[in-house]
Amino acid sequence: MTTKMKTKGYAALQAGGPLVPFEFERRSLGASDVAFKITHAGICHSDIHQVREEWGASLFPMVPGHEIVGIVSEVGSGVSKFKVGDRIGVGVFIDSCRDCRNCRKGLQQYCLNGMTGTYNGYERDGTTIAFGGYADLFVINEDYAVTVPHNLDLAGVAPLLCAGITLYSPIKHWKTGPGSRVAVMGLGGLGHMGVKFAAALGAEVTVLSHSPKKEADAKAMGAKHFVVTKEDGWNKPLRRKFDLVLNTVSADLDLDPYLQLLDTDGTLVVIGLPGKPYAVNAGSLLDGRRSIAGSMIGGMPELQEMMDFCGAKNIVSDVEVIKADYINTAYDRTVASDVKYRFVIDATSF
Ligand code: NAP
Ligand code: ZN
Ligand code: ZN
Repeated sequence: MTTKMKTKGYAALQAGGPLVPFEFERRSLGASDVAFKITHAGICHSDIHQVREEWGASLFPMVPGHEIVGIVSEVGSGVSKFKVGDRIGVGVFIDSCRDCRNCRKGLQQYCLNGMTGTYNGYERDGTTIAFGGYADLFVINEDYAVTVPHNLDLAGVAPLLCAGITLYSPIKHWKTGPGSRVAVMGLGGLGHMGVKFAAALGAEVTVLSHSPKKEADAKAMGAKHFVVTKEDGWNKPLRRKFDLVLNTVSADLDLDPYLQLLDTDGTLVVIGLPGKPYAVNAGSLLDGRRSIAGSMIGGMPELQEMMDFCGAKNIVSDVEVIKADYINTAYDRTVASDVKYRFVIDATSF
């Protein structure tokens, strides 16, 4: 196909939204491109941060969405990985330089020349605005898409493309397994995937939450313990009890009570991305040779590895499927921590 592809979606036209119906064109299919009919797109808190310019200036109009799944509808002449009818997924980036030392290692998310984000920026050509997955159709270079296992429900798969990989990557990097003591801060879209993965790998998982009503869900997902972080002194009984603390909280907060939970040589991984810098108490770091680290999504090989792991273990996200006209309400509910545990848009509603 040489003509551009008419696409229907939802966009924010200016900072703060609201998201409204928006029609645009995807690029015509290149030799290495795959076109697919989107079935579902997840709503990540990062979508909200960017629509609301909580990370600085954004590019509008913005079609958010970087948790995208669908069914292949057309393939370019040089495509070898996909055929029409295949299940396909696209995550947080749609390209990268392919040549730097990180890209060569499959760590495209850390491309030294800048990964090409799925939205809120320009495509690799530098001039076409990249529109994300809140839409009915997508076009992607085959190297930046993954194959989705046949046994998994597509709505539950969509959040794996960001929330899933973003927790899978640090959980694997810090060698989580039987005997690991892992705490997950925040049981939202990212956090609940962290619980499922760490538990599936044999770790003892504790959820640290400011929402007492989430306890039963956390335990059903595989957490052994659930601790409410609202009262002063909540962290006292847990000090030095963890090897790994995964911070998925989307709001500004004091890290110090959480750093104190780490045992000797433990690591607190920063994954949530609120607007303000964290203050660090040097004493809490020195004592026990503790580390603070960061982790951002995952590269293409690891994304496929995670999909295959989910297929083998039957892991998907817990989702609330919505129609497009509910997106603005879903944003407000996500910010209020009122989601079980990811909103996913049914793409037939665009
Ligand atoms: P989410 O679904 O809204 O979950 C965030 C959770 O944080 C909430 O469910 C809540 O859990 C907790 N929380 C929210 N407000 C809080 C407050 N005021 N005090 C204490 N806890 C609070 O968001 P998400 O989509 O999982 O994303 C989480 C963060 O990760 C966002 O900042 C997002 O931008 C970032 N992110 C980072 C990456 C990366 O590559 N590192 C990738 C994707 C997203 P409880 O109710 O259990 O307390
Ligand atoms: Zn995301
Ligand atoms: Zn690169």
